[in-house]
Amino acid sequence: MKENTRCVIAGAGPGGAMLALLLAHRGVAVTLLEMHKDFDRQFRGDTVHPSTLEILDQLGLAEKVHQMPHSKVYGPSFNTSKGLFQPFDLRRLKSKFPYILLIPQAKFLELITSEAARFAHFQLKMGANVCDLIRENGTVRGVRYQTSECEGEVRALLTVGADGRHSRIRHLAGIEPVKTSPPMDVLWFRLPKLEAAADPGSGLMGSFRGGRILVVLDRNDHWQVAFVFPKGQYQQVKAAGLEAMKRGIVELEPRFAQHVDSLRDWQQFTLLSVESSLCPRWHQPGLLLIGDAAHVMSPVGGVGINYAIQDAVVAANLLAKPLLDGRLEERHLTEVQRQREFPTRFIQGFQAMMQKHLLEPALASNQTTIQVPAIARFLVRVPILRDLPPRLIAYGIKRVHVDG
Ligand SMILES: Cc1cc2nc3c(=O)[nH]c(=O)nc-3n(C[C@H](O)[C@H](O)[C@H](O)COP(=O)(O)OP(=O)(O)OC[C@H]3O[C@@H](n4cnc5c(N)ncnc54)[C@H](O)[C@@H]3O)c2cc1C
Repeated sequence: MKENTRCVIAGAGPGGAMLALLLAHRGVAVTLLEMHKDFDRQFRGDTVHPSTLEILDQLGLAEKVHQMPHSKVYGPSFNTSKGLFQPFDLRRLKSKFPYILLIPQAKFLELITSEAARFAHFQLKMGANVCDLIRENGTVRGVRYQTSECEGEVRALLTVGADGRHSRIRHLAGIEPVKTSPPMDVLWFRLPKLEAAADPGSGLMGSFRGGRILVVLDRNDHWQVAFVFPKGQYQQVKAAGLEAMKRGIVELEPRFAQHVDSLRDWQQFTLLSVESSLCPRWHQPGLLLIGDAAHVMSPVGGVGINYAIQDAVVAANLLAKPLLDGRLEERHLTEVQRQREFPTRFIQGFQAMMQKHLLEPALASNQTTIQVPAIARFLVRVPILRDLPPRLIAYGIKRVHVDG
């Protein structure tokens, strides 16, 4: 099957789906290709930050996401040697949405793609695995894909690689990300809510002990838990066995003593091999990378989804008109990278600092609680300074708006 469109996007994650919706909204013909047959896959994070909520509000979708089953997080609380430490509180933001909304990513993607499907010039092909780039005279002119039934090609003025951290498009384009290795890996899993058992609390909580960190998110009907351990120790953690893992969880959060009985299989855990990377170049003639394909974010602050969506908004703002006019040039793609690279570098620098000063010492320590430096405790009490971390987590260094 051979088709033509203005923009073909590989990957219907948060970045690709949002870009498709925004371009379709502006009248641009878009085809979105997703290799999976549905959105219901392994856990990949469910955080929707204030900046994304404001973008959804601009699109008239904020009410719809709030109608989905959700919970809200206002900021983390850490158990430390000197009691509970709250590094920031999103309620201090001047925003209609001063919180992180937690909704299942599959539901979020279904909403975005079903909104895009209201436009006749939008097409979504599920189960379409992009396997090659079409090039003509040094310019990318579309992609070849395979489904379980057929092979096809979509030709387009612009091809977007929004196909995540292991991006095939990036590989085919020969673009190599520059990687840095954060000091930890994470195992994500769920625990049930038990009526008779004591609750660890609500919101986002963190505990540190013996070189391990436990992060707990309240998801209304279950607990979403991250077990953080030093990089490269997954095989060691697994070899120690499930019973040792459960003991480790209970040492960090004794109130989970009964909840851990629900853990019976390693299949219940999703490994996040933590990395941080940035591509030196996000584009070639006819081709643009966005989201994780261009930059993988460390999980500090849970901003990966947010940054993919902000890339999509900036790309749509800058590219919709040249695409509609059929006059897309590489300078337009250069401008997308120019506007997004600095905010990405900046937040990656902030994440690296948090990793170095907070997480690395905690992961290397055998102590039973973490010590927060006195300077950090002082800074979160200074009125002007205490507003900076929530703004940084919520928006990054620049608020992004949908044009038009
Ligand atoms: C276990 C885990 C937990 C995470 N937790 C959080 C969190 O709490 N908060 C947060 O903000 N971020 C989190 N992240 C990171 C977050 O998932 C990403 O930063 C974000 O999803 C990036 O969006 P994206 O659209 O760029 O890429 P992705 O979400 O990775 O989407 C890429 C899409 O492309 C598709 N695809 C891949 N190859 C092809 C191909 N050849 N052809 C067609 N389609 C293809 C994939 O199936 C996928 O749907 C987590 C990641 C993992 C792995």
